[in-house]
Amino acid sequence: MDKIIEILTDNGIDKAKSKTFGKYYQMLIEWNEKINLTAITEESEVAFKHFLDCISVFTSGVIAPGSSIIDVGTGAGFPGIPMKLYDSSLNITLLDSLNKRINFLNEVISVLNLSGMTTLHGRAEDYGVNKEHREKYDICVSRAVANLATLSELCLPFVKVGGYFIAMKGPKASEELEAAQKAIKLLGGRVEKIINYDISDTDYDHNMIMIKKISATSTKYPRKAPKPSKEPLI
Ligand code: SAM
Repeated sequence: MDKIIEILTDNGIDKAKSKTFGKYYQMLIEWNEKINLTAITEESEVAFKHFLDCISVFTSGVIAPGSSIIDVGTGAGFPGIPMKLYDSSLNITLLDSLNKRINFLNEVISVLNLSGMTTLHGRAEDYGVNKEHREKYDICVSRAVANLATLSELCLPFVKVGGYFIAMKGPKASEELEAAQKAIKLLGGRVEKIINYDISDTDYDHNMIMIKKISATSTKYPRKAPKPSKEPLI
């Protein structure tokens, strides 16, 4: 974990926070032997491709201190846990349909003593129609979960009018956006821009698609699983 700390401090993260990232890394590697959490395990790769990639979301400029955020399809906690370790004032909800991953996340929250952080086990299609969660978040983030048309149906229902859905995407961001334009509009979103960003030491093309929620989502959405993925709104 020394390498993680070195890379993160070299990239402007203070020593105390970098050490906490190191502890998260240790837990990730330990648990990854029992349950499938990540294919990337080498220290510097985790530092760049998971941790620094996830906290690049702050360069979007829309994440105010204290914001309420939901991470849809968080898996091993990406990007939600790195976001919380970087800015402890955020209130973050981690949602995933796989209970084994939720158990891991609960353990991380407990061991790292993270307050203002909760987990939800279940599908976005079900929580998106639940009054306690629908249109209750300033921001919804999601990385590597589904194509943008499907993801918009899973994510936009959680966002308050005036808030943002940030889709963290790879090199096919523009292509996906093209195919999802109709869905985004239908769900009450407006595309503001695609932010292309670099992570030192990686050659991967990273993009954040910034979608503002400009009107309430019709109660027709999200549809029940598996409709959003089998019949995307395109
Ligand atoms: N966001 C993480 C990352 O960037 O490493 C995990 C990505 S992993 C490829 C996709 C995750 O989304 C899985 O953990 C899966 O269980 C979850 N997922 C997929 N569809 C979902 C849905 N409809 N509702 C909740 N979770 C979902």
